[in-house]
Amino acid sequence: MLLSKSKYLNGLQCLKYLWILLNAPEQVAKVDASTQFRFDQGHQVGELAKKLFPTGINVPYDNFNNNITQTNELLKQRQILFEAGIKSADFYSRVDILIPVDKYEWDIIEVKSSTEVKNEHIQDASFQRFCCEKNGLKIRNCHIAYINNIYVRQGDIDPKQIFKIQDITREVNGAIMGIEDRVDNMLEVMSSLECPNMLIGIHCNTPYPCPVSSCQELLPDNTILELYWGGKKKYELFHDGILFIKDIPNGTKLNNQQKIQKWCDERCEPYVDEKAIEGFIATLEYPLSFLDFETFDTAIPLFDGIRPYQKVPFQFSLHMLKAEKSDPLHWSFLASSNEDPRLNLLSELSRALPDKGSVVVYNQSFEKKVLTELGEAFAQYRNWTNAVCNKLVDLMSPFKNFHYYNPVQRGSASMKEVLPAVTGKGYEGMPIAKGDDASLAYLKLAFAGSSYEEKEQTKKDLEEYCGLDTEGMVWIVRKLNELQ
Ligand code: SF4
Repeated sequence: MLLSKSKYLNGLQCLKYLWILLNAPEQVAKVDASTQFRFDQGHQVGELAKKLFPTGINVPYDNFNNNITQTNELLKQRQILFEAGIKSADFYSRVDILIPVDKYEWDIIEVKSSTEVKNEHIQDASFQRFCCEKNGLKIRNCHIAYINNIYVRQGDIDPKQIFKIQDITREVNGAIMGIEDRVDNMLEVMSSLECPNMLIGIHCNTPYPCPVSSCQELLPDNTILELYWGGKKKYELFHDGILFIKDIPNGTKLNNQQKIQKWCDERCEPYVDEKAIEGFIATLEYPLSFLDFETFDTAIPLFDGIRPYQKVPFQFSLHMLKAEKSDPLHWSFLASSNEDPRLNLLSELSRALPDKGSVVVYNQSFEKKVLTELGEAFAQYRNWTNAVCNKLVDLMSPFKNFHYYNPVQRGSASMKEVLPAVTGKGYEGMPIAKGDDASLAYLKLAFAGSSYEEKEQTKKDLEEYCGLDTEGMVWIVRKLNELQ
């Protein structure tokens, strides 16, 4: 049995997860397109970081044993190494960047595509260091190279500017304590015939959502795990034997939304605060413009003037109601070239959006940020984007405040749950049914070599998805009008 760095991190999250990975991999959900995209981004960032050390040598990974043999040879030459394969006894790790220091010591740099150093990065580096030291290497310092999110691309990417490097030696010294016991325990679990008994808990989502499907698939709907903003409390109640929200004992401290959720689950009926809904409807000024952006973001900015992970809008849908009973009018924009789509989008949107009335969005912090960044990038539109921001009304507000709540929402105020709950219509069966899918579809449309037919189908799917986001808002407002 070989304990690799990724297995060690899996085992730190949950020993059952580690066991299932090795002994019942069919219970682990396949990597979906969004996760694969995240992995690919990490790989690109890793490649870019190598440019920080032009004299570094890449240790090829044509096969496992060759990688280790070549690493051992190159270590003797005391050169900067990328992806050195370090194996000793039962442990194996590939170090992103290994730098010789003085005569005998080495520094480790782990490269991460995040914009800050996280606890899991410290654990990651502590295993790297453990492996290296088991192999006889003396490690002086450990560092994390991560993405500088205030870097703005101008021309070619500058590796020295896009990365920040933080010394985490002290943190690693703390994290490495007790590692011998932990790795022994993990090796024992890995070779055991029995799956360790672990309860569902906060660790199932920390640091990453666990992809093991078997632990939760038999749970019915409306369990305590769907408690709105349930945090640690839902797991404490679950471990106390409370399976359903309706069974939460009276006297348990709950916030307003959680109390309403319990009330609804006890009666199996929706909750409607007519007065609050009336108050929300009163804030709407006709004509109503229902606006939604689709965006993409990448660790390495694709265009000049863009920061890492900045949300770049490539599509909007706009439905407009001149009056309460009038038929909605529709405009849309979808970029399809591989150039910066922002200026064309702004120009189209500023032509289509009426000067008067409210601009209704769902989860306004997102649209507000996109509009503000567009105004910052294109000064000629700044006054206009500021004016639009001042007219935003957040349709999520009555739902996140539970002025309307239906148990079929399962503790969520997202549009994807609210639309079917309120109108009976939803996103089911659509080829693109969530924002992440839309981003990936656009990136493929703009940058990959798809056929004409594929591209036309993707455009149709994107228009349908973004269009439903805004048409759905029209339906929701009409329903709220009936409820008040
Ligand atoms: S779902 Fe939770 S309990 Fe089950 S294997 Fe994953 S982390 Fe462990």
